[in-house]
Amino acid sequence: MSDCLFCGIVSGDIPAEIVRSDDATVAFRDVNPQAPVHILIVPRRHIVNASTVDGGDGDVVARMLMAAKAVADDEGIGGEDRGYRLVFNVGPDALNSVDHLHLHLVGGRAFDWPPG
Ligand code: AMP
Repeated sequence: MSDCLFCGIVSGDIPAEIVRSDDATVAFRDVNPQAPVHILIVPRRHIVNASTVDGGDGDVVARMLMAAKAVADDEGIGGEDRGYRLVFNVGPDALNSVDHLHLHLVGGRAFDWPPG
């Protein structure tokens, strides 16, 4: 999508601090981090958000989860003694601001549950 911010990052037209990429996904640091580690994992293919995922997207969603695990390990928070949170925001109540599916990986500190 020509006017999509994250499509621009995937294509390289918009700069980002990319930490991992493969044929299905790109992972880059969030520009406004909410934790010591805050990385967004996005599909290369434009999908609007988690509520628009359908059966044909199963492989790419699995690849996003696998990429998140690899990034967490690379960041040193993937071990059993640490951990991290994975979040999909959908809609205004969740403060979803970019309409390209993205998985937030946040970690490097402890989080409350339920979230505030
Ligand atoms: P969400 O609120 O779930 O839609 O998340 C969008 C996220 O994208 C926010 O955490 C923003 O800080 C982040 N973001 C917006 N623009 C950029 C950018 N150019 N590079 C990296 N992260 C961005």
